[in-house]
Amino acid sequence: MPHIAIIGGGIAGLSAGIYARMNGFEASIYEMAPRPGGVCASWVRENIRVNGSIHWLVGSAPGSDLHDMWMELGVIEDHPHLVPARFGMYRDLDGVDVHLWRDPDRLQAHLEAISPEDAGEIAGFCAAIRTFRDADFPMRRAFELLSLTDWIGIFARNWPFLLAHWRFAAFTLEEYAGRFRHPALQGMFRHFWTPGMSMQFLLMQLGFAARGTAAYPLGGSGPFIDRLVARYTGLGGRLACGRRVAAVCVADGRATGVSLADGEQVAADHVIAACDATQIYDELLPDGAALRPPVLDDLTCFPPLCYFSAGVARTFPGLPIASMGHNLPFDPPLQVGPVTHARATVQIYSFDPTLAPTGQTLLTAMLDSDHDWWRARADEGAESYAAARQAISRAVIDGLDRHFPGLAGQVIFHDLATPLTYARYTGNHRGAYEGWLPTPAAARAIVPTHLPGLANFWMAGHWVAPGGGMPPAAYTGRNAVQLICDREGRPFETSRA
Ligand SMILES: Cc1cc2nc3c(=O)[nH]c(=O)nc-3n(C[C@H](O)[C@H](O)[C@H](O)COP(=O)(O)OP(=O)(O)OC[C@H]3O[C@@H](n4cnc5c(N)ncnc54)[C@H](O)[C@@H]3O)c2cc1C
Repeated sequence: MPHIAIIGGGIAGLSAGIYARMNGFEASIYEMAPRPGGVCASWVRENIRVNGSIHWLVGSAPGSDLHDMWMELGVIEDHPHLVPARFGMYRDLDGVDVHLWRDPDRLQAHLEAISPEDAGEIAGFCAAIRTFRDADFPMRRAFELLSLTDWIGIFARNWPFLLAHWRFAAFTLEEYAGRFRHPALQGMFRHFWTPGMSMQFLLMQLGFAARGTAAYPLGGSGPFIDRLVARYTGLGGRLACGRRVAAVCVADGRATGVSLADGEQVAADHVIAACDATQIYDELLPDGAALRPPVLDDLTCFPPLCYFSAGVARTFPGLPIASMGHNLPFDPPLQVGPVTHARATVQIYSFDPTLAPTGQTLLTAMLDSDHDWWRARADEGAESYAAARQAISRAVIDGLDRHFPGLAGQVIFHDLATPLTYARYTGNHRGAYEGWLPTPAAARAIVPTHLPGLANFWMAGHWVAPGGGMPPAAYTGRNAVQLICDREGRPFETSRA
């Protein structure tokens, strides 16, 4: 039975392993961390489970290729999901609440009520969401395996979507914000997400939300990864945690296995690297610099992330639920190293009773930061690094206390993961937690998943799908196995059993 060695036990690596087993390959995943999951992490503090990733899972509802994939991966059947009515919520400085309703008709009426003078732009925005919602883009097979007839069918069925895609891919959220007159709408587009992202990326997520297929699986990242691991090991896959791959073995222009940091050499017929791209080219591949595709020079990494978490001894009755959370103003602004945040998006998990005991709630916030600033704090010593984490985490609590009076006195624990935490536990370059930022340049880029001149070597994960996310991680893992099956002349099989 041919053997596939997989580097990394994040969602991409686990997905590759599951599809490898479905197709009769021997599969071994080598994961450097003590636990699988990568950035889709979770941890427990004071009896409260911190959800380190999943806010929304695209493909959660039946009727799409992504849903079929999650069913094959064994993660969604019989698991409770919540479909919030809002994708996000933005509180303006003047107290105006902008609700990003997932129903485009309701959203259009709401935005027009806030700003009648922006009615034209709002209509165009909501029409684009409907177009993205109605797209029928096949996600069942690797693009490399689609025939000319497949592509003609895709273009014929999806030309309105493709036109809107290319139109909105050309500008950033920041640029789009400038089209609106009302400060609350300008602010929402400018601050809700990373401002350098292309508009097409936001529309894509809103389109999925409008279709009702971007739900939150109760329990978040922890149970999600547990189910993936159970599916993989249940199919007979081998998972070795705490084993870092130091190099890909190459002979005669072909990957022949992996070499582990502890010195063990593992022979394999194929190698799938489901890990950080910079590491692949700079460290794992002999002569990797020569193999690095020039397209990567056009791409920008996601900003390094600080992830705030806290448990509080209170509930938030009546608080609206939104997939991404609540974007709130912070006065004074939060200083996260050299980055100033006048606003932050906070998720208040009052809707997930499985994360915290009754009467308690998990809060999290994602704050863009700077890798080198944290490196400097760590180089100054453990005390300096800990003090910086503590001060920022405290400042988030104080800022939240202004929105939810009394909260500062109800804190059970608070914590801050820094870009160094992400780099150390997941190997993602400088803490870029989702790979390449979906900028306008990234929307035009095709990132290769295999390399001319290096046979039997494949790549998967958020570093080969700009914008990242769990679905791209999972389908690039699956696609790598499809391409291997194609190379080996075997049919690609899937199963839900
Ligand atoms: C806070 C946060 C919120 C998010 N929210 C969402 C969301 O709501 N919806 C969504 O779709 N996505 C979300 N994402 C993104 C999503 O979680 C990721 O894009 C996805 O999990 C990436 O999976 P991956 O397998 O490609 O990469 P990773 O998770 O980075 O996995 C790579 C694995 O490889 C291992 N590794 C690296 N180098 C080596 C080596 N040399 N040897 C052995 N092992 C190695 C790492 O330890 C890691 O486990 C979020 C991410 C974060 C951080």
